[in-house]
Amino acid sequence: MEFEDINTITVLGAGNMGHGIAEVAALAGYDVVLRDINDEFVQNGYDDIEWSLGKLAEKDQITEAEAEATLDRITPVVPLEEAVADADVVIEAVPEVMDIKKEVYDEVEAHAPDRTIFATNTSSLSITELSEVTDRPEQFCGMHFFNPPIRMPLVEVISGAHTAEETLDLIESLAEEMDKTPVRVHKDSPGFIVNRILVPLMNEAAWIVEEGDATVAEVDSTTKFDMGLPMGSFELADQVGIDVGYHVLEYMHETLGEAYRPCPLLEAKVDEENLGKKTGSGFYDYENGGVEIPSDAGSDAIEHRLLAVMANEVAGLIEADVADAKSIDTAVMLGAGFPDGPAKLADAAGLDVLLDTLDELHEDSGSARHEATSLLRELGEDGGTFHESDDEGGDEYDYETLRIGFDDSVARVVIDRPHRMNTISNELLDEFAEAIDALDSDEEVRAILITGEGGKAFSAGADVMSMAGGGADPLTAVELSRTGQQTFGKLESADTPVVAGIDGYCLGGGMELAMCADMRIASERSEFGQPEHNLGLLPGWGGTQRLPHIVGEGRAKEIILTADRYDAETMAQYGFVNEVVGNDELEEKAMELAKKLASGPPIAQRYTKRAMLAGRDSTTAGLELESQAFGHLMNTEDLMEGITAFMGDDDPEFEGK
Ligand code: NAD
Repeated sequence: MEFEDINTITVLGAGNMGHGIAEVAALAGYDVVLRDINDEFVQNGYDDIEWSLGKLAEKDQITEAEAEATLDRITPVVPLEEAVADADVVIEAVPEVMDIKKEVYDEVEAHAPDRTIFATNTSSLSITELSEVTDRPEQFCGMHFFNPPIRMPLVEVISGAHTAEETLDLIESLAEEMDKTPVRVHKDSPGFIVNRILVPLMNEAAWIVEEGDATVAEVDSTTKFDMGLPMGSFELADQVGIDVGYHVLEYMHETLGEAYRPCPLLEAKVDEENLGKKTGSGFYDYENGGVEIPSDAGSDAIEHRLLAVMANEVAGLIEADVADAKSIDTAVMLGAGFPDGPAKLADAAGLDVLLDTLDELHEDSGSARHEATSLLRELGEDGGTFHESDDEGGDEYDYETLRIGFDDSVARVVIDRPHRMNTISNELLDEFAEAIDALDSDEEVRAILITGEGGKAFSAGADVMSMAGGGADPLTAVELSRTGQQTFGKLESADTPVVAGIDGYCLGGGMELAMCADMRIASERSEFGQPEHNLGLLPGWGGTQRLPHIVGEGRAKEIILTADRYDAETMAQYGFVNEVVGNDELEEKAMELAKKLASGPPIAQRYTKRAMLAGRDSTTAGLELESQAFGHLMNTEDLMEGITAFMGDDDPEFEGK
């Protein structure tokens, strides 16, 4: 099963999570079958989706027509056999009870085609154990969405013990297609990443109160106002449901050991059925005043205690190879809204300080909760940090959207979003900037070669939808334009020579990226163009300034104003492409050229590049004008016209408004 072949997604369970997952899948363009055990439940889920799509349309996040088309793609079904008969992927969101899920998989295995991939949305059950119920454990993984799926950007993609790498890659691509950020969880470990951090934090907060060291108000004041987390620890427990956290904790206690013994305070709340917001009372009384957290009742002692326990969990995850510090931070920022990731927070506090805190706590309590993991001890004693520990694993150039490799002194940067035609996302811009900075200052690197993954596109441009979505505010659009200008500009101002190896589409933002390379080599089949005017936009990532420098103003105006597509041969005649080669030769010839530049004189190269760049002294003003213009265009009716026409494959009718 290839990612491109996915058409139909079956979601099992039309409850809280199931209906939301079905909605995001249908919004991404998939045909969705939504299944529950009776007509009423499945209809309720369908109605919830209809309501939610209506809200999105009301807020102009989608059009009425898109809402209708999305709903049309969803088919509510009750018989399981029918629901999975043509499924490419089954995402299961039935109740969190092992026996129910096992029964479901038993039946699904009997009726789903061999190609079907199974993904479970379980929060805490063993993925390996579930996968073993089926005859295809290698086609089985975790796909853990957060509540509500329509708003929460994170998806944890979890490997069971038997999951194949291709299954994980495919589910990650699927999550991206749904506009989510996948984070890989390498092992089926209790709580995965986000709950493994949040739940022990809630437990420690409860122990602090249980042992009389502080009050609920003092703990929440510390977490919310001193640590800057989005909510107080107890406020969060109430919000999620104390029972939900408690059950995950119980599971951790059973599987990971004594350090996760639930605090009696939590147990009592669950027994009394004071489960938080949903029952009207928990740690706060929602019928009388609700959450009130003083902003100045926090203390350093509480902060250090919570940070130390959190750092110990981070160390536990890294040590067991469940995830690295970077993934942990991404997951917790996106899944729990932390302003900074837990690894970064711990690094900032100092692992030596937190290790001391934990050791002191352990001396007092003797509790397994306060026993430092060996990684925390090692890093704390050596003055290390979690983020450096990632690098030691040789992952210095570890990115989601780029792949970095080395061939002698050539650094190869591969734009790695083939399922999106290597389009440029915000994440890619961030990672690109970081990678180019690092490579340009790496003395071993003497040339940089940039290519696109997948053989279809170097880069087909920016993601039109995400740009329109993020750009309603002209200031945001100006920022977006500046960020792209500056990011690509790093190639132009890098001291290291840069070659773009272009195979396939090189359009819009992709072409603006290629403009910043020093030389461009392209395969015969490549296609170039600046289609922005078709959308009522302008090339906002440097195109209006950089293209004329390469092809002359006359040709640049032609390319931008006509918004036509050009073949490689024509672009070579225009002077944009330095060399056109056979389709099969691109890789080899591009590397040959990069190696030739890598063997050139670095100092002469550096000053040649700098001098040529310095000669363009009016570019700064030009770029500023360009980004202001970009922001202005974001607010025009013509942009909406262009995008609507583009989506519907029609010709736009611009009115200059
Ligand atoms: P829910 O109770 O709201 O929904 C479960 C639905 O599954 C119900 O409508 C139920 O009728 C249906 N169901 C039961 N047996 C079924 C079967 N055999 N086939 C199809 N449907 C069946 O539960 P939920 O909150 O949506 O949770 C579902 C899963 O998602 C659980 O594994 C849970 O741990 C996980 N999860 C929940 C959250 C959350 O915040 N609620 C977050 C992430 C993951």
